Amino acid sequence: MKRDSLILFLLLPASLVICGCQTMLTATEKVTTQAESIGMIHPSYAQAIKKSTGAVSKSIEEFTPEQEYYIGRSVAAVILTKYQPYTNQPANQYLNLLGQTLAQASDMPEIFRGYRFLVLNSDEINAFATPGGQIFVTRGLLRCCRNEDAVAAVLAHEIGHIQLKHGIQAIKKARITDALTTIAAESARALAPNEVAMLTETFGGAIMDITTTLINNGYSRSFEYEADNAAQTILRRLGYDPNGLVEMLMVMGKNLKSGESGFAKTHPAPQDRIDEIQQKLGIKYSRVRTPDARQARFTKAVGKI
Ligand SMILES: [Zn+2]
Repeated sequence: MKRDSLILFLLLPASLVICGCQTMLTATEKVTTQAESIGMIHPSYAQAIKKSTGAVSKSIEEFTPEQEYYIGRSVAAVILTKYQPYTNQPANQYLNLLGQTLAQASDMPEIFRGYRFLVLNSDEINAFATPGGQIFVTRGLLRCCRNEDAVAAVLAHEIGHIQLKHGIQAIKKARITDALTTIAAESARALAPNEVAMLTETFGGAIMDITTTLINNGYSRSFEYEADNAAQTILRRLGYDPNGLVEMLMVMGKNLKSGESGFAKTHPAPQDRIDEIQQKLGIKYSRVRTPDARQARFTKAVGKI
């Protein structure tokens, strides 16, 4: 991609991301029209962007599904610069089939361009969910799963983060405010090069806020417990054993080495999560009993991962 096109690629979503109410419409219209007039984007793409911002949010904290998708796509790109995909078709197909089923049972079954699931070729115990619906799970985390109920629990936890909009909330409010101030002041004329640069920088900063949270800092404990809670609701609706999550956390507790990156750094200790689930949901532990057919497909797809 040429440099100008790359800037535009970043800028277009930026104009969707950082502006609120009427200001967002104005800024997006301007940027999109300029890009279209100089032939940098196809008219149909320009049309789609203008249309998506028509369903504008009521406040700057509320993003449309389209905006979340554009942010999530960039977050996913950053994750894939740090982790390689695991190119094993049966494993990825299994993850997608299971993931799509779980997503349909969530409180947010419909998202722009749908949910996508991918195994990452890493021994680290880790998983990521972007605001756009891309969910990544490492081989290291799948090795903590002894049955499908446990894999379902992992995916349902990540779907929970998306449904509860935890990723979007990692964007620092100051970035949105800064950009809004500039755009509002300049709304009567075309964007100057320094404003274009600022918008691009703001979008880059928003992506960095999310990836830093996902990869390095982690969410707050309360967000993690909320995601576990949402996961249990999804699992219950589909008839998965709630102890699938508890058993996965027990194995994770044994496999995690303190000080390593991944869940050891970004999530509460597995035992704390187990305590929270058991106390809040009143779940008593008993060994997961999974039907033979379910266990057979789990073993075939990810049993030796
Ligand atoms: Zn989490």
